[in-house]
Amino acid sequence: MATAIGVDVGGTRVRVARVDAAGQVLVRLEQPTAGAPDLVCAQIEDLVHALDDATVEAVGIGVPGRVDISRNRMMSGGYVDLSSIDLGSILAKTFGRPVVLDNDGNMALYAEHAIGAARSAGTAVMFTIGTGIGGAVLADGRILRGRAAAGQLGHLTVDSNGARCLCGRRGCVETTSSGTALAGHLAAAGLPAATSVDKLLEESRNASAAAGSVLAAWAGPMRFAIDTAIAAFDPEMVVLGGGLGAAMHEALAQIPDEAVWYRCPVVPAALGDRAGVIGAGLAALSRQG
Ligand SMILES: [Zn+2]
Repeated sequence: MATAIGVDVGGTRVRVARVDAAGQVLVRLEQPTAGAPDLVCAQIEDLVHALDDATVEAVGIGVPGRVDISRNRMMSGGYVDLSSIDLGSILAKTFGRPVVLDNDGNMALYAEHAIGAARSAGTAVMFTIGTGIGGAVLADGRILRGRAAAGQLGHLTVDSNGARCLCGRRGCVETTSSGTALAGHLAAAGLPAATSVDKLLEESRNASAAAGSVLAAWAGPMRFAIDTAIAAFDPEMVVLGGGLGAAMHEALAQIPDEAVWYRCPVVPAALGDRAGVIGAGLAALSRQG
């Protein structure tokens, strides 16, 4: 059976899986992200090589930042910035198979639409919450592209006087509600840097004011971003994915809801943080057809 290798390049971890046409993960690997672009490129080559076999027809790679899929090139990066290298061409040359690049949020929503939480949806919005915050929009059953790179929902503004973002603006939701931002909220509250989000959620349920205020600082602005996305796209659902998606979903449930016009179900990703590799594999297979 035809398979593809899906790669999900995160700010903290690089995940790789060999995936069949049904989206089933046959084998997978992950490592801490190597760092500099040439090191990450070599790391991806090694990981893809480790999973390669005769069934592999294509390689799909999800990367943070803006990707122009018509040129198979990155326009900018995120916490990992690979835009200085032609990753698609390098891997296609190494492996002799087609290589497709896309934004990591788009790959995750592709998987959630194919076999996950947005399976039945024609219109959906996804936020992927990890080291940074990615996003993607499904409109009429297809990933919304805009001119090239629509769906950068981590850069919705939630505080015009907020911290400077990688994108050059201030107060994007990535600066308040990513994993990186959570570490900042913990430090500001004087809590240990190693405090897990699950521990915070547990302490907050037990009426810890410190844990509750950290979670409010982290998840409160996310509510603004979700409401803005709902106002813009009127989706059937908002899917929260990435390594912290389920925790964000739980944290939002502890924050009082306001009666606004723009509402729809907000659900955790069904595929968890495997959505990125599964979507990359499925997208690589589908673009060969
Ligand atoms: Zn930004």
